[in-house]
Amino acid sequence: MHFDSLSAREWKDPKTTRPHILPIYATSSFDFEDIEHSMRVFGNQEVAHTYSRYGNPTVDATAAKIAAMETFETDMEALAIMTNSGMAAIDMLIGGLLKSGDKILTQHTLYGGTTELLMKIVTRTGIEIVMTDLSDPEKVDAYLQKDPSIRLVYFETPANPTLAVIDISVLTEVAQKHNRWTAIDNTFATPYLQQPFKHGVDFIIHSTTKYLNGHGTGMAGVVIGKDIQIMKEKIWTQMKLTGANCSPFEAWLVYQGLKTLPLRMHKHCANALFLAYKLSEHPNVSYVNYPGLETNENYTIARKQMSAFGGMMSFELKGDIQNAIKAMNNFKLCSLAPTLGDVDTLILHPASSSHIKVDPELRRKAGVTDGLIRVSVGIENPQDLLEDILQAIE
Ligand code: PLP
Repeated sequence: MHFDSLSAREWKDPKTTRPHILPIYATSSFDFEDIEHSMRVFGNQEVAHTYSRYGNPTVDATAAKIAAMETFETDMEALAIMTNSGMAAIDMLIGGLLKSGDKILTQHTLYGGTTELLMKIVTRTGIEIVMTDLSDPEKVDAYLQKDPSIRLVYFETPANPTLAVIDISVLTEVAQKHNRWTAIDNTFATPYLQQPFKHGVDFIIHSTTKYLNGHGTGMAGVVIGKDIQIMKEKIWTQMKLTGANCSPFEAWLVYQGLKTLPLRMHKHCANALFLAYKLSEHPNVSYVNYPGLETNENYTIARKQMSAFGGMMSFELKGDIQNAIKAMNNFKLCSLAPTLGDVDTLILHPASSSHIKVDPELRRKAGVTDGLIRVSVGIENPQDLLEDILQAIE
């Protein structure tokens, strides 16, 4: 062998060491033993990794762990497929399930990017978006009764950024009666606090960029479905052919985050509840959106379907938009960053950021007012957080 062949050649460690931690499989393809092995795999007679856009050991292990979390303590089986972002997960689900002429029934209160995706991209594929108040089962029933082309009911609970809550069991019961699919964005709650499959949901999506990663170190998403056949035939095919696959490194970052999810969520929830109580008594605050406050209109439903109320809250600062913008510049400990679910506290002014491209009328309907400030409450000392918020809004 010449030097240039040696240089180009793949080299393997002959010792068989078993790593304790899931490694990052930084490889685009996987070796076959021989051509017969390759033929068996491509002929679906044997399962093996072939090409990382189709599947990768790091990505698949992380996805399987998320599926195990979403089905924890149930006898359900689910399959999870990871994507390169939360948006890609939503797009993959819709692209895999629906076709031109179908309709999606959804709500006004969604993450701004999701509303934009639905209105600007999904509608271009001939899929129509119908919006209503999904917390009203009679309205949902009437829509599904009258329009058989509504194939999917898509929702968020708690929703971004108003923390509005929908009774999942009530909604899925209506959808099941009419034989329609339901999909939930479970990003805010995580499977530690809320397991939508237990309440009859068909598909769950996450921006794993948020709490599942937990440290703000990467972007990824996931779709989890109970119908394994649909997941394999429709959703996986969509992922594979559109190249929406998650990178092994990004999946590995999520994999690390999953290990501390319960510990982090406990502290996020305790800190958020503490701040919500304190802020709801403050004269400069018109109201606090946090489903864990007994005075919150969503408290009873949230208690029924969540084990705790999460680390996300928002509050409306009295005064005009300029007052809210001024307050945003006063924060010292909390960072002004357009994400959520990190270990440190992040603040956001939705009207001028995450929801700026959403039609103002839709924004108003979604409860995103000019004075609304969203807080992704971190795991810092709660007194330090309270002091920072108080000095900023006073
Ligand atoms: N869903 C929710 C609730 C979100 O807040 C976000 C992003 O902020 C997304 C989905 C989109 O996720 P990603 O930014 O990972 O694409």
